Amino acid sequence: MSRTTDRLLLLDGRLTPGAGGGAFETIDPATEEVLGTAADGTPEDMDRAIGAARRAFDETSWSSDTAFRVRCLRQLREAMRRRSEELREITIREVGAPRFLTFGGQLDAPVDDLGWFAELAESYEWERDLGRAEPMGMPTRRRIRREAAGVVGAITPWNFPHQINLAKLGPALAAGNTVVLKPAPDTPWCAAVLGEIIAEETDIPPGVVNIVTSSDHALGAQLVEDPRVDLVTFTGSTATGRTVMASAAATLKRVFLELGGKSAFIVLDDADLKAACSYAAFSGIAHAGQGCAITTRILVPRDRYDEAVEITARSLSRLGAGDPSDDRTICGPVISARQRDRIEGYLRLAVEEGGSFACGGGRPEGRDKGFWIEPTLITGLTNDARTAREEIFGPVLVIMPHDGDDDAVRIANDSPYGLSGAVHGSADRARAVAARLRTGTVSVNGGVWYSADVPFGGYKQSGIGREMGVAGFEEYLETKAIAEITT
Ligand code: NAD
Repeated sequence: MSRTTDRLLLLDGRLTPGAGGGAFETIDPATEEVLGTAADGTPEDMDRAIGAARRAFDETSWSSDTAFRVRCLRQLREAMRRRSEELREITIREVGAPRFLTFGGQLDAPVDDLGWFAELAESYEWERDLGRAEPMGMPTRRRIRREAAGVVGAITPWNFPHQINLAKLGPALAAGNTVVLKPAPDTPWCAAVLGEIIAEETDIPPGVVNIVTSSDHALGAQLVEDPRVDLVTFTGSTATGRTVMASAAATLKRVFLELGGKSAFIVLDDADLKAACSYAAFSGIAHAGQGCAITTRILVPRDRYDEAVEITARSLSRLGAGDPSDDRTICGPVISARQRDRIEGYLRLAVEEGGSFACGGGRPEGRDKGFWIEPTLITGLTNDARTAREEIFGPVLVIMPHDGDDDAVRIANDSPYGLSGAVHGSADRARAVAARLRTGTVSVNGGVWYSADVPFGGYKQSGIGREMGVAGFEEYLETKAIAEITT
């Protein structure tokens, strides 16, 4: 049935309710209040979006006009900056993101990062001369060109919607691709406003960016399967990433995957235990633990285990869970009832596996609306417990003892994931441990790796490829060798 829609799809340069005219609700996870509706894209809409992206790539000068693309990216950054207060409120309400994070990774930082990709496109060596050679006696001049991959299908999750949408759009557009973005059903407005800004406030040509919000995950699968799409960039769970990779195989398209994690926070025996454990608590439950690279396994020296548990539990209890619009809140709600139920399943499992709660373990008191979990610290488990191995994606940390640096490295690396990690201790030892971790990023003594110029991604089942940085930009490029006969 047709309904009016608050926010629209972006198809071939036009904002539209889509073929079916349907809409679905987006909800404030802190209160369960319905914020409004978004257009519910259909398979027909996805088909149009892919067709438009294909045409814009094949039939316009978008992919070859670097100066124009750079100008469009800067326009987009400026337009998003102008609307940052509106975007900030949407992000807090729709994502449940604590306000303080919107001044960094949830909004302002990824908007600024668009400028970095524009500058990279401007200064990039698009063509390199390899000089003259005589392969098989043929005098030849060789040049290597880097070219856009083509039509990019971008599929994103709900936890950091602007960061992830823009970390795909920025480099994909800078590199000369056209894009179909399929955001997560839980956060359609964050993506739909981006569509409005692109359509109304930039010169990005029709078809170059298409945004299809939908309540139906199957539209993501459709995007992966369509032969007109050249490359799929996916961020989400490892389970879905596996499906994406398998279905992309049918058309042999490139996939690049940013997936889950269960990262370790290692406290060495010469670290300041109080400072390290307090920081582990803070970083472990920021945004209710809904970050792929959050360090959710805390590894502490065995002979100081009880002390570490006490410090960490005290910090977690003090931080608590609170209203995301309050600028002092670190841990807000979790995104949905489904996600809360999933986390509660893990809390029950932790007890069945022999664990106990040093703090938390349930829903915070006095919050009968919204989706809430108390910051929780689980003790008494070893690294073979499922609770210690599987991604929970909530404000739930497991603390385990280690018997020195080698043992800490062994436990940290004993994981199907390899996304991130943190080490606290004297600089030389912490650095040596960081070098041995099988993960895509490591923080040493609180260093921050998040930045436009730093590649981010995972080892093992945390993904394939890198986002951000020059490496992230080059994921969106093809390589062409041109060999010309010469004298
Ligand atoms: P999810 O895998 O359920 O969904 C992600 C996206 O995939 C959504 O847009 C969804 O609609 C779409 N999708 C679902 N089924 C699909 C299919 N068969 N084919 C194609 N697309 C499909 O993940 P989520 O619950 O939205 O997000 C949480 C997960 O994302 C966590 O596992 C987290 O670790 C991961 N994540 C990873 C990173 C990273 O950079 N490594 C960043 C953020 C989140």
